[in-house]
Amino acid sequence: MNTGLKCRECGREYPNAPVHVCEYCFGPLEIRYDYDEIKKRLTRETILSRRPNMWRYKELLPLDGEPTVGQDVGFTPFFKAERLGKALGLSNLYIKNDAVNHPTLSFKDRVVSVALSKAKEFGFKTVACASTGNLANSVAANAAQAGLEAYVFMPANLEQGKIIGTQLYGAHLVGISGHYDDVNRLCSEIAGKYGWAFVNINIRPYYAEGSKSFGYELVEQLGWKLPDEIVVPMAGGSLICKILKSFEEFIRIGIIRGPVGTRFHGAQGAGCAPIVSAVKARMDFFKPVKEPKTIAKSLAIGNPADGYYAIKQIRQSGGWAEDPTDEEIVDSIKLLARTEGVFTETAGGVTIGGLRRLVKEKRIDPDATVVACITGNGLKTQEAVAGHVSEFPVIPAKLDAFDAYFESSSKAA
Ligand SMILES: *Cc1c(COP(=O)(O)O)cnc(C)c1O
Ligand SMILES: [Zn+2]
Repeated sequence: MNTGLKCRECGREYPNAPVHVCEYCFGPLEIRYDYDEIKKRLTRETILSRRPNMWRYKELLPLDGEPTVGQDVGFTPFFKAERLGKALGLSNLYIKNDAVNHPTLSFKDRVVSVALSKAKEFGFKTVACASTGNLANSVAANAAQAGLEAYVFMPANLEQGKIIGTQLYGAHLVGISGHYDDVNRLCSEIAGKYGWAFVNINIRPYYAEGSKSFGYELVEQLGWKLPDEIVVPMAGGSLICKILKSFEEFIRIGIIRGPVGTRFHGAQGAGCAPIVSAVKARMDFFKPVKEPKTIAKSLAIGNPADGYYAIKQIRQSGGWAEDPTDEEIVDSIKLLARTEGVFTETAGGVTIGGLRRLVKEKRIDPDATVVACITGNGLKTQEAVAGHVSEFPVIPAKLDAFDAYFESSSKAA
């Protein structure tokens, strides 16, 4: 039920089209909706009567027709993390687990299903993206199912899981020698010249809306309530902004009562934390990071497109931002796995590492309802933890060999 586009800065309106910046002021374009109409059609009852996927909120997503790509994406697990909460000293900690999102095990399946469905509505035959890894996997897989040609551009030094998990689907993978910001700059030129649908460039306003479904779901799963605190990993800063937008929209159409009292906390890996640094220095603008250096490669965007808005939102909400080191990221991946049985990628280590710091600094009330956002799967970034688990014994297939091993290992413990 969208009615076109609107410039976030000057308010100028545009009809639906594959464009992303205002031609007058160069501000980012956002989707317009007819909320009065949506309010009549989308109630808790309608939502509950629909299948458990992100399209149960379809009136708030920018398609004209029904989704044609990614019909099963979303409605990922949400649960109370008792054991991790206890380890951190939090009595109401919840995890929203997009590490098991369908089909490519990250929250990027949400944005891609909207982007590719929209690209098909616009009549594109070729889709493309500039990626830090997860977007590559998702565009490749969803394009394969949709029968679209896919070109994927990413820094050549990414993890094996992200490279193989892109090529296998038949996408054209182009590695770029450089950082994500170099890839993105090149892709802007290619988008103009080749006329492809670059999901996070020319159709970015539509693509980015898919992230809102992460927020709608967690509100529903929390029993139609907003959390007091939320910790969100940030790359371009879009997800954190869209979670707030999802809360505001639910209030606007009467699904929940306002105002939003949630404190938004952002996290990035030390070594590429332009948004976090700005929040900590109490600056309105971030300083781009030229040479990102973090194991959280999926978050390594030195010049975040929505950084300015993310900084403002974090500050206005009364939240904070943290940038755990590589060592803290690895420790946090292990802690989450040990306490909750969830194996997350480095971005999830950033979330939990950030949360640990926030708790230690007493920025989070121990009894508050806290949501930690886990956005990607650990099987894709095994390199990051491979050297951080102990060697395992190899013994003959004989009971006495196991007896001997058990005796010596229990003595050692
Ligand atoms: C892309 C990504 C993010 C952050 O996305 P932005 O919306 O660009 O801030 C978080 N986690 C994972 C695993 C990602 O791949
Ligand atoms: Zn404008």
